[in-house]
Amino acid sequence: MTEDTKLLRIAIDGPSGAGKSTVAKLIAKEYDIDYVDTGAMYRAMGLKILREGIACEEGEELDNLLESTDVDYSNWRVYLDGEDVSDLIRTEEVSKIASDCSAIKAVRSKLDSIQKRIGRTRSVVMDGRDICTVVMPDAEHKFYITATAEERARRRYNELIGKGQEADYEKVLEDINKRDYNDMNREVNPLRIDEEAIVVDTTEMNIDEVVAFVKSLIEDKESKN
Ligand code: C5P
Repeated sequence: MTEDTKLLRIAIDGPSGAGKSTVAKLIAKEYDIDYVDTGAMYRAMGLKILREGIACEEGEELDNLLESTDVDYSNWRVYLDGEDVSDLIRTEEVSKIASDCSAIKAVRSKLDSIQKRIGRTRSVVMDGRDICTVVMPDAEHKFYITATAEERARRRYNELIGKGQEADYEKVLEDINKRDYNDMNREVNPLRIDEEAIVVDTTEMNIDEVVAFVKSLIEDKESKN
């Protein structure tokens, strides 16, 4: 990279099920830049805790595990100690432990430093809960993508039904509300709207409309720089 290479770093935060990852991937493809799903990294760490059978709580045991664990994200895949675990982390069990372990300071500080390193030198789209606020506070573009809890639950419910799985809308909504509460109320780096982020409420938009809107905001700002 030459010194005058201009970086295009796009930070996207927002609650579970708002469509952040879908939008982030399409935007990354559009500009042919890297994409990092930071939630996948928390999930990989959760999977390691499950595999080792240790308690998800602060202490020496967890510190030792963090010390000896390697989590990486490249080419749209997440690696746990070198193993591609991208397809193993999408279970309810992993979702739950990822949410629990993401509240622990030592876990966040390990993953934050890996993500910060990635975001320092490359053009990238990164999505998560603390990307605008903590991981890439100096990103060229910042967004907070959201939708009402009911709409996010409706999308998730339709997705599960579409996959032929059983689903109960009220239960899906309850899970979304629980995850929102955990994300917004944890002590370390809670989910909040960064003051520089543009809020995109997708409740009444489809994916194509969201991508076109986000792109227009990026290009508008780029044209002024
Ligand atoms: O986005 P996803 O549901 O895959 O994230 C998994 C878990 O990781 C969530 O429960 C969320 O609380 C946590 N997370 C986080 N900070 C991030 C990304 C995800 O705390 N930057």
